[in-house]
Order: sequence, then C-alpha cells, then structure tokens
Amino acid sequence: MSEIHVLDQNTINQIAAGEVVERPASIVKELVENAVDARSTAVTIEIKGGGIDFIRITDNGTGIEKDQIRKAFLRHATSKIASAEDLTTVRSLGFRGEALSSICAVAKVELITKTDEGISGVRYIIEGSEEISCEEIGCPEGTTFVVRNLFYNTPARRKFLKSSMTEAGYVEAFVQRLALSHPDISFKFISDNKNKISTAGNGSLKDVIYHIFGRDIAMNLLPVDHEEAGIRVSGFAGKPVISRGNRNYENYFVNGRYLKNQIIARGLEDGYKGHNMVHKFPFAVLMIEMDSRLFDVNVHPAKMEMRFKNGEELYSAVMTAVKNSFIKKELISSVSLGRERKKTAKSPVSAPEPFEKKRREITQASMVKQPETYPQASTVKQPDTYHTDERREPVRPADPEPAEKTPAGKQMSLSEIPFLSEAARPRHRLIGQVFKTYWIVEFEDKLFFVDQHAAHEKVMYEKLRKSLEEKTIHSQLVAPPVVLHFNMKEKNRYLMCRDAFEALGYQMEEFGEDAWCIRAVPDNLYDLDQQDLFVELLDHIEEGTTGPDLSVITDRLAAMACKAAVKGNQTLSYKEMDSLLDQLLALENPYQCPHGRPTIISMTKYEMEKKFKRIQG
Ligand code: ADP
Ligand code: MG
Repeated sequence: MSEIHVLDQNTINQIAAGEVVERPASIVKELVENAVDARSTAVTIEIKGGGIDFIRITDNGTGIEKDQIRKAFLRHATSKIASAEDLTTVRSLGFRGEALSSICAVAKVELITKTDEGISGVRYIIEGSEEISCEEIGCPEGTTFVVRNLFYNTPARRKFLKSSMTEAGYVEAFVQRLALSHPDISFKFISDNKNKISTAGNGSLKDVIYHIFGRDIAMNLLPVDHEEAGIRVSGFAGKPVISRGNRNYENYFVNGRYLKNQIIARGLEDGYKGHNMVHKFPFAVLMIEMDSRLFDVNVHPAKMEMRFKNGEELYSAVMTAVKNSFIKKELISSVSLGRERKKTAKSPVSAPEPFEKKRREITQASMVKQPETYPQASTVKQPDTYHTDERREPVRPADPEPAEKTPAGKQMSLSEIPFLSEAARPRHRLIGQVFKTYWIVEFEDKLFFVDQHAAHEKVMYEKLRKSLEEKTIHSQLVAPPVVLHFNMKEKNRYLMCRDAFEALGYQMEEFGEDAWCIRAVPDNLYDLDQQDLFVELLDHIEEGTTGPDLSVITDRLAAMACKAAVKGNQTLSYKEMDSLLDQLLALENPYQCPHGRPTIISMTKYEMEKKFKRIQG
C-alpha cells in the first residue's frame, strides 16, 4: 500500500464534509471498509453491547507500517488518493482520510498491526485523540482494531444512541451489505458472543445470499446479467413469490459500493412490471459496474449517495437487465401434497431433502395474501366468450412426439420446454375441471393446476394494459350523454389532466355552471362501467400531476379485470379452458394474476409416485 500522507488543503476543500461517526455501525463501516481496501480475504467483526461497549475488527490485509501509524490517525491522512483529480477515478471504498482521526477522538482505540515485511508488529493505544502507548509486539500479519466505550468523553452524543439491540441491528445490516458486495471475502460477525453471519468467501454471490437470507430466498432467485452502454448489471433478482412489503431488500452496488439511489430503484422496480403485485417491492442483489468517471461518490460524507452523469442509460440498463431475467423462465411453483405424518425413527420411508424443500415452496406460495374483497359475481357481466354452460369435450390425447427443435436447431429435451409455450401446447392433456375452480393439465412428467379466475383475470388485465399502452382505445359515443357534477377540486383536476383523458378516448363538454357531460368514453374496455371508471380515475389523480398516469389506470384496471373475470366455483367448458390456455401462453408473464397470486402450480409425477410408495427416497 502506498504511503500515508496528509492531503493538501485544495483537495481537502473538495471533499464532502460531514460527521463520519454517528453510531457503532458507522465505526464498523469505516473500519471494515479499511480492511477491504487493505486487500483482506477474511474479516471478523465482533461487537458487545451493540458496539457501544466494544467493537473488534480483525483482518488479514496488508497491515500498517510502524512509522506510518501516527500519521494514519491524523485528519485528512490517507494512502488512497494523492490529489483532487484522483477523486474522479477512485476505486477504494475510503479516500477521505478522516475515519481513524474521528474514531479516536470519541472512543478508546487499540490498534495491533503487522505488515508482511515487518519483523514484529505494533500495538498502539490512543484514547480521546491522545496517544497512550506505542510498543512492538509479536502478532500475525494484518490489522486488529479494538474500539471501546464509544462517546465516553462526549456524553451528550451518547444519549442519541438507541438501545444496544437496535444498534447491533444497524451493525448487522451493514455487515450483510458488505458481505453481499464482496463474495470473495469471508466475513464473520459475532454479537454478544453469538455467531450472526458467516460467509465462505468463495466468490459465489448465491452462497452469500443463502448464508444471509436463508434457503427460501436463495431457492427463488433469477440470475441477472446484462450489459448496455458500458454498464454491466449482474447478480440476482428474486422471483415475485419472495417480494416484500418495503424497499429494504433492494440491494444494489455500484463498483462494489452500496448506495441508495432513485434512478436505480426505479429501474429495478420497473423491471418487475407485470410480475409484481401492486405495493410489493422486489428482493434483489444487483452489481452494477461502470466507468467511475460517470459518477461522483464525493457527494455524501458516508458515501451513501452518488451523482450519475448517465442517469437515463443507467435506468435503462437496470430495467432491461431485470426484465430480461424473467424471459422464458418458468415461474410456476411446484407443490407437494404435504409431508407424511411423522414416522418413528425406525420407519423405512422418510421424506428426503427435495421433498422438504418443495413443501416450503408451497407454504410460501400460499402465504401470498388474497385481496381483501372479491366483488360478487352477481353484479358483473361475463365476457361473451365465457359461457357457463356445460359442454363436455373429449380429452385431448397425449401426443407421443419426440423432442422439440429449438429455433437455433439445437435439440431441447422435453423437460426443458416451458409448460406455457407454443412447443408444449400440442402436448397438453387437459384433464378437466375440479371444484368448479381449477383445471388440471398433464404435461410431460408433471400435473399442472390452473386457477381459472386468476388466469382469466390475468388475460383480461394484460389485454387492457396493452390497448392502453398502444393507444388502440377508441372513443365510443354515449347516448344519451351522462351528466356529472364536479366540485372545484374535481374540476381543477379534470382540467389539469384534460389532454390525457382525451387521449384515452374521453370526450367531455361543459354543461352549465359546475356540470360536465360525458359525450364519449373509451371503447374496448370490456363492459366496465364507464362513468365509474371516469370518476375513479379522477379520484386517483394527485395534486400537481398532469395526467392520469398509466400506473393509476392499470391499478384500477387490475381491480376491474378481477371483477369482470370468470369466478371460481363456476363451471367452464373444455373449449373455454382450452382457449384460455392459448391466451395465457401469449402473455409475457402468465404466471401471476395482477395481484401477484399464482395462476398455475404444478406437481411432479415423482411426488405422486412417492405418495403411492412406488418409489422410496
Ligand atoms: P481512508 O480510508 O479514507 O484513507 P482512514 O482514516 O480510514 O482513511 O484510514 C487512514 C489510513 O490508514 C488509510 O488510508 C490506510 O492507509 C490506513 N489503514 C487504515 N485501516 C487499515 C487496515 N485495516 N489495514 C491497512 N491499512 C489501514
Ligand atoms: Mg477509511
């Protein structure tokens, strides 16, 4: 590592100023980032009392030369940049040279360090910025920092700390992020003598995700890998089944640095459009790599924000990367009939690994909450193609054709063909309806169960969304015109968004003082009550917007598609179901209804054979 030196005043002036030590987690952040910058491959973080009483960080990195130690604790002393120009290309996590000086000012610090050239190591003690001792000792290569009694000399600041449990939580969240961004480093985190995190450091991001978030999440990941305009986006996007109620599980790193950024968050969330439920946020761990001249890390004292010069390209790269990860992926969750009743220890039949695994998947799928109220069928007109009369049709025979050719001419084995694909379609054997709600289809070595309501709802919703997006909605005259009375607010909102309403196909005319009449409404919106839709759209326009934004409309449409879709507990004919399957398969994401519930689940022949004890294992 290069020599530590104090930066010149010009460089200091250009560095984002601000407090770096607010709480134990900020100390851990600074010290662990130093360990990473020192090319460590293993870092252990131990805290007691939430880190307020005790923090110890041990690394196996380069160490600090004996004659550099005092300098390291000076303000603006760093070995990582030399001048202001270096700020544009800096790749190290640190560069401000302020952490050690700030930490030793508010706590009791002990440093033990040795470089690989040094014959012995050094133990240096500094408390409240005052050097206590500096002595040579024998120790392994690398660096250990011990920080005790945070804010012991500034009790006023200590009062701002939260309970030790909360502080420990902040530290843990930080270590998680650092472990995610560095799968090649082994991290250990111990809090009050309990092992909390332990990663292998074998370079596998998936392994780190498994260690931190557990098996259910690790089993539901889609790989992401995309490059566009010099921006590479890789990592993993969670399947919608593991989506969360807030943004806490949206992890992204730019050149190895964790941050929060609206452009990236929007790209990520937009990449899930059509896959995620409304008000659900994805689980993701995305690594973004780009030329460091395209952003500025020097805008926030803790470097939690960055300013990007290529915002639009960044948005597009992230959005496309995430969107592409869904393409051609079978997102059908497989289910089993549940585990056998507990056997005695001697029992020869025991449930094997994959069995247990699948069981968790179904629990997960069934945990997805149902929308609170499903409107009753009586008020809703059914679309024409879905009569509820009973027409029993012969079951389509299974077709014993051999493997399909992929477009590239490569042989694709049958089990690789997604259930909902053109290639698979002729081999679907539609068995019939059960409980007047679900359809059973046999395909290859699996049974598929289709929820007729969820499937129909999805088909209708996508049609509506498409016609809105492609602006293929036409006006349809209303005779006689419907008169609406607007209050001031409604009138203003309407006038503000008039253009957008007209683009949708609405034609309105002023009709006296505070009344308006609807002359024409968008055609093609599947018998939705046009007046209701208009009022709903108007109600959902927020102050300050210039048009009913598409997402408000699609949200409303999701609710309406749900109303208009064929219900459960309703007989469908074979033909109707067959056509519904055709329509589903044409969709980009047929696997979830607009509320995010699955439309299809599956069960393997293997599962069945196990149930009947034809096979064991
Ligand atoms: P910065 O990280 O911004 O350079 P710090 O105050 O965090 O500033 O650290 C000052 C210097 O001390 C670093 O530039 C580095 O040379 C040295 N240093 C700190 N921690 C370690 C470590 N764990 N291993 C090796 N060198 C370290
Ligand atoms: Mg540092």
